[in-house]
Amino acid sequence: MKYSGLAFAVVVLASLFARSGSASPSTSKQGVKKESFGTLPDGTPVDIYTMTNAKGMEIRATNYGGIVVSLRVPDKKGNLDDIALGFDDLKGYLASSPYFGAIIGRYGNRIANGKFTLDGKEYTLAKNNGPNTLHGGLKGFDKVVWNAEPFQNHDGVGIILTYTSKDGEEGFPGNLKAKVTYTLTDNNEWIIDYDASTDKATPINLTQHTYFNLAGEGKGDVLAHILKLNASRFTPVNQTLIPTGEFRPVKGTPMDFTQPTPIGGRINADDEQLRFGRGYDHNFVVDGKGSDPVLAARVKEPASGRVLEVFTTEPGVQFYSGNFLDGTITGKNGHVYKQRYAFCLETQHFPDSPNHPEFPTTILHPGQTYHSRTIYKMSTE
Ligand code: BGC
Repeated sequence: MKYSGLAFAVVVLASLFARSGSASPSTSKQGVKKESFGTLPDGTPVDIYTMTNAKGMEIRATNYGGIVVSLRVPDKKGNLDDIALGFDDLKGYLASSPYFGAIIGRYGNRIANGKFTLDGKEYTLAKNNGPNTLHGGLKGFDKVVWNAEPFQNHDGVGIILTYTSKDGEEGFPGNLKAKVTYTLTDNNEWIIDYDASTDKATPINLTQHTYFNLAGEGKGDVLAHILKLNASRFTPVNQTLIPTGEFRPVKGTPMDFTQPTPIGGRINADDEQLRFGRGYDHNFVVDGKGSDPVLAARVKEPASGRVLEVFTTEPGVQFYSGNFLDGTITGKNGHVYKQRYAFCLETQHFPDSPNHPEFPTTILHPGQTYHSRTIYKMSTE
């Protein structure tokens, strides 16, 4: 939106420079292209940015909600398919979307009963998920227009999205300045850097809600995808998907993905946690978390050979098996999205952390900088 002509010129020049400096003809489309993606009902213009790397992998993202609208990735034969569920146009996202491809904030996942207490003061949030708050409230970061600046540098091509959430927005304290950087590298990595600062203490838990189907969006369910989670524990939940506070070993349960296992292998098992989630909808505790991103998850789709690896600095990852998709949404290319037609791997701090002092803290204080990095790396096998 507040896109400057200068920045555009920089991108175009950078892309020309990259082309002339390379011997490979496959780099001809490498760069970032900005186009209109329509307008909001109040007339606010929204753009879409097409990021293309030297290998032809392409990410299209709009500054409305930072939504990744499509992710075109090669299979083992080199054919590109769009592996992200979503809509063909802005109207689809505005009408109703289960957070397809969006940035989630201020607080990804649930906060119990829409309440938390911070420094002795109780804060009340909207309850938009049964008795709880989900994904930042009624108008979370998925429904706001971000400022976007494209770039191209030695790491790859991308966009920097910025948004200032006002003190009191959706009930959260403090003016929160958020910055989310999407970088597409020539190694077929989509890197997401989340940065934020605040002028009052506030909970923050930013994540990304892309619905993946590695066979291609709309091409059936994901039950035959093979998942490995680098997590020997998860945080069990109650009926409303709020963690009980326990860190439970996955060993001997359908939650055990420490060895590569089909997503559908045990999804209908007689298990209380699977009943509560209507399948997988659980936060897994990433083993070996450090300050550098660690491998949290690896997913392979056998037919296409596509492999997705998820690296993160976050302590947790919500594995959601698309249980609430029910065939009522018609997405891209007229595809009807039925139950389990996608999975999400949302890197995050644990759900409801503001009400769980035993969990790693999600409170950002003035003077501190929030930084979190997640890498979705694509390859084939
Ligand atoms: C939640 C699910 C929810 C989905 C879409 C996931 O992060 O864990 O319960 O249905 O988002 O809203």
